[in-house]
Amino acid sequence: MIKYSYITCKEALSYSRLLGLDYSLNPYFGCEHGCIYCYSPSVFRNEKIARNWGNFVKAKINIVDVLSKQLKKIPKGVVGISTVTDPYQPLEAKLQLTRKCIEVLSANNFPISIQTKSDLVLRDKDLIKPERFDIGVTIITLDNDLSKKLGSKTYSPESLIQVLEEFSDKGVDTWIFLGPIIPEVNDDEENISKLVDIAKRTKSEIIYDKLNLKPWILDSMEKFLENERFGLKDRLPFLITKNSEYWRTFRARIEALCLREGVQCKPAFP
Ligand code: SF4
Repeated sequence: MIKYSYITCKEALSYSRLLGLDYSLNPYFGCEHGCIYCYSPSVFRNEKIARNWGNFVKAKINIVDVLSKQLKKIPKGVVGISTVTDPYQPLEAKLQLTRKCIEVLSANNFPISIQTKSDLVLRDKDLIKPERFDIGVTIITLDNDLSKKLGSKTYSPESLIQVLEEFSDKGVDTWIFLGPIIPEVNDDEENISKLVDIAKRTKSEIIYDKLNLKPWILDSMEKFLENERFGLKDRLPFLITKNSEYWRTFRARIEALCLREGVQCKPAFP
């Protein structure tokens, strides 16, 4: 049962150090998608928040007004929506905070980069223009059952492919965030080559990333690993270090495949 509430914020935009972004905008605190591998809660360095992630969503109810005022004081730059939540929470269907923020940013000519796991973004197709937007969807597997076990209670891979198709047809730059790659879970040949095919068809770039074992993530994944991949939990930390043989091999494999298929591809953290 998700607990919803309202909060207020003092700032709408934060400076971002993520690649390609100048600012981040997170209209919600918490995330109903509840992916078991999510490392957003580690940003807050709070165990209680981390252990409760996926069970609460707090809407920043004054964010649109705060944003309007803040935009008068800062230089133009790319705004990432969102970086520690999904901007298209189920609650967004009713509150439209993300939509209203996009309206304000567009009126002030700020470039916008959206990343989501929800096809609710299609609702805002009228606002999302090729000249000022790019759209990324996170797809880590095309297997619906596996996707659900990893925590995606609120979306399906098929609906995200539709998002790519519709925005690509409209001329908007699109990308697939293929992350996290979890060894022996979603790194199989079939999954990766199907995703590369989808990227090719929709002229999308692939940005890939490995599992990031921030504090509490192994705990959050424990039940899944015990039930579905017995024995993997102990090996995971060694498999996914930045310079592990596993990761070097995976990188070489996906980059060769993308090169062969003419798909642009890069790691999220080079
Ligand atoms: S959608 Fe993103 S922010 Fe939300 S739980 Fe999943 S990984 Fe975390």
